[in-house]
Amino acid sequence: MPQILKARVGSTRRWIVTSTVVILLVALLGSFSLLFYTARSIDALQQHDERALVQRTLDRTQVRMVGEVASATVWDEAWVALGARPDMAWADLNLAEYFHRYFDHDLTYVVRHGTVTYASRDGVRVANDALGAIPRDFAPIEAAVLASVGPKRRSGKVNLEGQSTARGVLASGGVLYLVAAADPTAETRPVSERFADPEAVVISARRIGPVFLRGIEADLGVHDLTIAQGDGRGATAEALVTDPGGKVLGVIATRASRPGMGILGRAAPEILAGLAILIAAATVLMIRVSGALARMERNERDLTKARDEAQAANQAKSQFLANISHEIRTPLNGVLGMAQVMAIDELSDRQRERMAIIMDSGQALLALLNDLLDLARMEAGKFELARSPIDIALLVKSTGAAFEGMAAQKGLSIRVEVAPEVEGAWIADGARLRQVLSNLVSNAVKFSDAGSVSVHVEASPSGLCFSVRDTGIGIAPHDLRRLFDKFQQVDASSTRRFAGTGLGLAITRELVELMGGVVRVESRLGEGSMFQFELPLQRTDATLLPPPHSRLGGRRQG
Ligand code: ADP
Repeated sequence: MPQILKARVGSTRRWIVTSTVVILLVALLGSFSLLFYTARSIDALQQHDERALVQRTLDRTQVRMVGEVASATVWDEAWVALGARPDMAWADLNLAEYFHRYFDHDLTYVVRHGTVTYASRDGVRVANDALGAIPRDFAPIEAAVLASVGPKRRSGKVNLEGQSTARGVLASGGVLYLVAAADPTAETRPVSERFADPEAVVISARRIGPVFLRGIEADLGVHDLTIAQGDGRGATAEALVTDPGGKVLGVIATRASRPGMGILGRAAPEILAGLAILIAAATVLMIRVSGALARMERNERDLTKARDEAQAANQAKSQFLANISHEIRTPLNGVLGMAQVMAIDELSDRQRERMAIIMDSGQALLALLNDLLDLARMEAGKFELARSPIDIALLVKSTGAAFEGMAAQKGLSIRVEVAPEVEGAWIADGARLRQVLSNLVSNAVKFSDAGSVSVHVEASPSGLCFSVRDTGIGIAPHDLRRLFDKFQQVDASSTRRFAGTGLGLAITRELVELMGGVVRVESRLGEGSMFQFELPLQRTDATLLPPPHSRLGGRRQG
């Protein structure tokens, strides 16, 4: 038992330590994940916003560029200047320099029937063929303008209504360009009619290069924009650069500022301090609980030790009692034997009276010794029950009969009722069963002055149920509780009316419990008592032995 308790306390301690550590870990991990997740979400949101901004800026820049190109081409002067023989000086001032200086265009040129008639780079005129492959690569834009030019011109439209424009992102020589194009359009009908259609397309472009990207960065407050060409695969987080047909030509990547992670980083000292406090609190709690459990374990050990010592002392006392009872009983039996022998002899009346007192006192002493010996044996755990086939009906009847004389002397009648189902053989310790019944019947007779004592036995679900009822003095409710305690007598005053030691009911209960049963009592002061016990007994087919008799000098019956 001490080991089991110790193990239980030990395992509880381990359990508490383990669960504290687990809870702490889960809490730490949970808070970290939550913080991290929140920071990441904020960052993702920010990234998404920046991407959308860049994409919108890209689109708006193109729209604006078309407006810029249109502003210098919907113009009577342009209609006149950009014909078959372009006015180079006009173009220098109003196309190349104007677009470059005011709108940051990187190159501007004029194409007529597929041939470059004017070219400029960074606001300065260059040779018509100096743009290399660019006019060829930008041909789709030129074609887009020309596609809608014909019908408009034929319907004689002027001003903005007569103009065709196109825009898009195009790649050339490993560089991406935002391109806008428009055809020169007359502002007034007379000019459009007086001068021939220039049949030209003005194309102007901005490189999506470092200068362009730095401009966007400054406008939008984003950081470290980079451009990469390609199909944009795996670049879902960036702004896509697409050609007029929707084909992805490249991606503009932003190094998104990471406000979430930034906050996390700045809050790290506070978070860490909080965690440290949490861990410290949990550790202190754990140590306290552990200490309390250790103290409990020690107390448990002390208690167990004290109990073991008490048990050992009690056992020694019982052993002593058993020995001494036995030692007294032997010579007492000798005294009683001799007294019986002497009683047969010729004695005077006075001597016979004295002899009767000696024998009565000797019997009383022997009964007390027997009770003490029984109790001592039971307490020392040295009490063994016999198991043999018994005619219980007969045993009950003979026990009742044994008290008839004593009852008659007090004017009482004894009724014994045995239910028919009790007839036959049962496995039991007959001597002990008789002892229990005798104790109860003896008390019933002893504590009744009129009326009757009835003994009843019948079958019960678990075996047999015995009842002893009397019409005697009864027991007060508050005395019922300690009735079965050792040396307890209801009337403990020195002027007791009834003899006895207060051991009978204690032995009765011990015996009934040893036999696996329970004993109950119901009583009303002045009306009588009913003692009842139930024993789990089994029937047997074995041959019956004659019922055992009460032991010589057993508990006195008078
Ligand atoms: P003893 O009879 O030797 O005193 P018991 O243990 O048999 O000891 O009984 C204890 C006490 O219980 C008795 O002294 C008596 O006061 C009370 N008692 C027992 N049986 C009865 C009964 N049938 N009616 C009234 N009182 C009883």
